[in-house]
Amino acid sequence: MSDELIRNGLAALRAPFEPHQVGKLPKPTKAQTDAVKADFSKGARCNICNGWHHPQVVHLDYVGHAAITDRLLSVDPAWTWEPLAFDQNGLPAKDNIGGLWIKLTILGVTRLGYGDATGKSGGDAIKELIGDALRNAAMRFGCALELWHKGELHLPKEEDQSPESAPPQAQVKETITDSRLAAAIVKIKSGEYSVERLLHSFALTEAQTKVLNEQVAQ
Ligand SMILES: [Zn+2]
Repeated sequence: MSDELIRNGLAALRAPFEPHQVGKLPKPTKAQTDAVKADFSKGARCNICNGWHHPQVVHLDYVGHAAITDRLLSVDPAWTWEPLAFDQNGLPAKDNIGGLWIKLTILGVTRLGYGDATGKSGGDAIKELIGDALRNAAMRFGCALELWHKGELHLPKEEDQSPESAPPQAQVKETITDSRLAAAIVKIKSGEYSVERLLHSFALTEAQTKVLNEQVAQ
C-alpha cells in the first residue's frame, strides 16, 4: 500500500457524515423522565426522534455503530480490531471496571480505543462494549470527530443527575425505647455520650424528654 493511498484513506475517515447518518438521541433530565413515568400524558410523540418523551427534552447528534462500521469498510474493507488482552478462557479481557481496551487497525495503522457499557447487562453489554470501543478508537482516527468536538457523539450513559432534580434528604429521626434511653442517659452521665448527639439521632416523646431533663440535670 502506498503512502498516498494510506494518507487519502485516513483523510477519508475524517469526512463529515451525511445528515441521514447522524441520528438524534433524546437526552431527558431525570426530572423529565420522572414526570413522564408518573404521568404518561406529560410526554408527547416527538417529531425529531419519533420517541415518546417530555416535550422539552434536548436531543444530541450521534453517529450509530452501523454508520461507523460503514465508514471503516468504505475506507479499508480489511479493517480489523482485536482486544488488547485476553482472559484465561481466551475471551477479550475486560479491565477491573468492566471496560474493554481494543486495537483498531485501519490501512495498517493501529490505534487504541476504550469502550464501556455502563447501565447495560448481559449480551447487550458486550455488544455495547465493542461498539463503544470501536467508536472511541475510530474517533482517534478523526472519524465523527466533529460530533465529539461538540460533545455530542457519545451516547449518554446515564440520566442527568443534576442537583436540583434530587429531592432534599429528609431528616428522619428514629424513635427510642425507654430502656435504650435509660442506657443512653447512663452514658451521658459518664461522658461517653452527649445530649446533643442523642437529640440529633432520636425523636424523644414528651415523657422521655422530661425523664432526660430530670436525669441529666441531677
Ligand atoms: Zn425526541
